[in-house]
Amino acid sequence: MRNDLECTLFDEDVILSRLDQLAATITDDYRGKPLTVLAILHGSLVFMADLLRRIPLPLQLSCVQAASYGNATVSSGVVQLGQLERELLDGRHVLLLDDILDSGLTLASVIEAVTNKAEPASVRACVLLAKRKLREQEVSADYIAFEIGDEFVVGYGLDYGGHYRNLPCIGILKNEVLAAATLGE
Ligand code: 5GP
Ligand code: MG
Repeated sequence: MRNDLECTLFDEDVILSRLDQLAATITDDYRGKPLTVLAILHGSLVFMADLLRRIPLPLQLSCVQAASYGNATVSSGVVQLGQLERELLDGRHVLLLDDILDSGLTLASVIEAVTNKAEPASVRACVLLAKRKLREQEVSADYIAFEIGDEFVVGYGLDYGGHYRNLPCIGILKNEVLAAATLGE
């Protein structure tokens, strides 16, 4: 899989030491508060597993399915959301986790659903990556591990057509890999 990368942006050790810092900040901010982490599937799974084990607080974990990308590298513009577990959100401080903030549509849809369908004490968002770009939806994340340019990345939970989620680093695919996949090879 690594051979399919044009370049590596963040190696595993860089990611994990950044997560140490991020987790320490989150731990300070949520100490003594009833916390529910709401992970947006599937992209946040690897990030979630490493981040949560660095937060030594009592917390509840809930997940919601969200899909806006098909096999393409650009957003479809439509976000499909799965069921929310209301009992884990009402009266609690909700921290959304997503892999990447791109157009903002996914995060905006989940925040809207959480605030419309439940009564959380607060809602904040934490993302592994945020692209530096103008967003279609004005939404920002309260915690960001890394900012990147407006480029399509894979690895550490992020997929291309369902592949590369298990790559331990984050990188950019070679053009020929993207072209071959587009042709269905
Ligand atoms: P948004 O709704 O902000 O446009 O995008 C959020 C979702 O689109 C992410 O959770 C992720 O699944 C997907 N996405 C956006 N940018 C990228 C990218 O550069 N690489 C990958 N693999 N997925 C992306
Ligand atoms: Mg995805």
